[in-house]
Amino acid sequence: MSFFHKLSKPLKAVLALSHCSFCGSPHTSTGICDPCQDAVSLKDSSCHRCASPINTQSDLDSYCGRCQKKPPPFDRVITASRYQFPVDKALGELKFNNQLHYARSLAHLLQKQIKSSYTTSSLPEAIVAIPLHTKRLNSRGFNQSELIAQHLEKALQIPRQKALVRVKDTPHQVGLSEKQRRKNLTNAFKLQQPLPRKIALIDDVVTTGSTVSEAARLCLKHGVQSVDVWCLAKT
Ligand SMILES: [Zn+2]
Ligand SMILES: [Zn+2]
Repeated sequence: MSFFHKLSKPLKAVLALSHCSFCGSPHTSTGICDPCQDAVSLKDSSCHRCASPINTQSDLDSYCGRCQKKPPPFDRVITASRYQFPVDKALGELKFNNQLHYARSLAHLLQKQIKSSYTTSSLPEAIVAIPLHTKRLNSRGFNQSELIAQHLEKALQIPRQKALVRVKDTPHQVGLSEKQRRKNLTNAFKLQQPLPRKIALIDDVVTTGSTVSEAARLCLKHGVQSVDVWCLAKT
């Protein structure tokens, strides 16, 4: 990370094609070297539904208290990493500093996690990125979740559908209660094309899950039977 930060943007872009996004080491075709993959990949025990960390060592079929009390509308969250250094910093660089090479390296990490998570079940029939509102999309120039979805579409050979639109410009949800988050997100999305029965929603960071839950509920209302969530980082 520190090596890369000292370089100019165009130089970073060129190097990013063959160098690790995180440590700058050369000769990686995936944008992230093996030691960095190992360092940032998910290691703790997580809830089998929402991927929140849980305190268990052995139980293979564990759910967090929240999911036991009130299961979310999605079936499972697959995450590449936790939202912590250096992934949090990489996501900030990707979103606010146009360091798009992180999309490739983090999507590679996620893709590996996905492949090992669907050994006994079939992959979704379509992937759908959580959209940004036009206002935010125009100011940023790209939707990071759509970039991830593009990488996964190629790597996993699953069709990507731009099925959702964000019709409500929701304020930043940081620091808000869950009730307030949910209220802000009510009717935030619209579905603009039919979807197959099993889909995966792609988001960059999942915190409480309010955003993906709202999108999942909408899809389930319109004929989708199963929604998984794939993200780069789960808090
Ligand atoms: Zn590295
Ligand atoms: Zn859970």
